[in-house]
Amino acid sequence: MHEYSLFLSLLKIIEDQLKPFKNPRVSKAVLLIGEFSGIDLEYLKEVIKNFKRGTPLDRAEIIFEEEPLKVRCFSCGREGEPQENKALCPFCGSFEVKIIGGLDLILKTLEIEDEEGFSN
Ligand SMILES: [Zn+2]
Repeated sequence: MHEYSLFLSLLKIIEDQLKPFKNPRVSKAVLLIGEFSGIDLEYLKEVIKNFKRGTPLDRAEIIFEEEPLKVRCFSCGREGEPQENKALCPFCGSFEVKIIGGLDLILKTLEIEDEEGFSN
């Protein structure tokens, strides 16, 4: 149930972001799923579909985007997507790289509507 605990931590992040609003409604959420996150995207979609009722995601449009593995090179300073999924620099071939993307589930965008409007 890895995907289910991801869903719970995602909800926690979203609820934190909703705190400043009076009567918020999430209209859209964009999730970035790393190519090397080990997440089963189809299963995650199932989990969200089955458990979103009563959560802030209930009426939201949920977009899933896949993020490829991405590295930053310490030798040439560039950032890019390595070839053949190897953690080395796609420009100079150095192994002195840091993985900066493609390993996590990230909440990329959250569109919030406050149903109280701006009438203050
Ligand atoms: Zn390089």
